[in-house]
Amino acid sequence: MKTIGLLGGMSWESSALYYRLLNETVRDRLGGLHSARCVLLSVDFAEIERLQVAGDWARAGELLAADAKTLEAAGAELVLLCTNTMHKVARALTDAITVPLLHVGDVTADAVRAAGITRVGLLGTAFTMEQPFLTDRLADRGLHVVLPDPVDRALVHRVIYEELCLGIVRDESRAAFRAVIERLVAEGADGVILGCTEIELLIAPDDVDVPVFPTSRLHVEAAVAAALA
Ligand code: GLU
Repeated sequence: MKTIGLLGGMSWESSALYYRLLNETVRDRLGGLHSARCVLLSVDFAEIERLQVAGDWARAGELLAADAKTLEAAGAELVLLCTNTMHKVARALTDAITVPLLHVGDVTADAVRAAGITRVGLLGTAFTMEQPFLTDRLADRGLHVVLPDPVDRALVHRVIYEELCLGIVRDESRAAFRAVIERLVAEGADGVILGCTEIELLIAPDDVDVPVFPTSRLHVEAAVAAALA
């Protein structure tokens, strides 16, 4: 089994989910007392969030690239950046390490296409929904991305940073997200990407009538497949 490096803490609420899913997936694949061989480097999210707000992506990329190198030096044979948003600086990481970075956009696009869907909604932070780093990656793989309108984008972004990243899971927010998803379906989406690693703490597949693509789970499943190949 290869050693999986997790670059997390963005937020730690979803990194805890990654750690659990990683071990559960390896247990389910190998049985018995098997668990994942992994290294976790978890950052102080306040520092990263300040750089996001300031638009200082170059500095954020430098910091995360240094952390990715630390993971490699600690034995990671593949690296997961446990956030969709910070894939904006994925290139800084791939330039810094010699082991593969498993890009969340590629993993997600593969899952959406495997489900036979090409028109897909995307929920995530405003950065992820409004900048091209993830949407272009999905489009390059043949997907047509449907985005929420500006009011819904602001709602989703606020709930991510003011609730989910702080471990706050509210029924009112689940209802609001379900309504956003229904509007994406009305716009023609045949499935919806939960393109922020905290959203699956709020929305489960059974909460909605359309297929959802939870990026933390998909990322972990692809990593385990690669680690056991
Ligand atoms: N975990 C989130 C994501 O997947 C948001 C936090 C962040 O900005 O990194 O985009």
